[in-house]
Amino acid sequence: MGLHQVNFKCHHCDHCCRDVVCLPTPWDVLRIAMNTGQDPHDFLEWLTPEEIQGVDKGDATWLKIGGEKYIMALRRDEKLGCHFLNRKTRFCSIYDHRPNLCRLYPFRLLEGRDGTYKGFSLHKNVGCPRNRDSVYDTAPLYDLYLNDQMHQADYVKLVNAFNRQRRADRKPEDFLDLFIEVVKA
Ligand code: SF4
Ligand code: SF4
Repeated sequence: MGLHQVNFKCHHCDHCCRDVVCLPTPWDVLRIAMNTGQDPHDFLEWLTPEEIQGVDKGDATWLKIGGEKYIMALRRDEKLGCHFLNRKTRFCSIYDHRPNLCRLYPFRLLEGRDGTYKGFSLHKNVGCPRNRDSVYDTAPLYDLYLNDQMHQADYVKLVNAFNRQRRADRKPEDFLDLFIEVVKA
């Protein structure tokens, strides 16, 4: 592994689509909706801290309503996995439009102490078998990582705007309307 390449090949074991909860950004949601025609209300769910593991309770993307917190996730079935996992082929049915998080899995960015780009390796604790029988170019991965970082920062701004609203009858789904309004503006 080095600066320009990382050894990895996805063997489509479907672990990441079956056992991992995918957290899209609003831009992922809009891309999926526009390219598939599906209504985000049908493919999203809103999870409380008790319903998801591995997300820090202080994460900046929690929507706060009253005393409860919710995070936006792709809908999934406990046994069958992600809403978009084709039940017969076990492949992603929206592969070309899938969230950035799915595209970056299981890669991990390597940076120097000063933030210098050092390449990519594979996450150790994500359940992927991490087969290394092929080679990925890291340049597109880095572009994708930077794009995702930008979207995450904008996502946090939208969440902060939502959390500042004081309407008593708010529901987590109302967050959809907020980011659709911002994109239209
Ligand atoms: S969107 Fe596709 S790649 Fe991402 S978790 Fe769902 S099925 Fe897997
Ligand atoms: S867990 Fe790893 S090998 Fe399995 S489908 Fe996901 S990326 Fe591919």
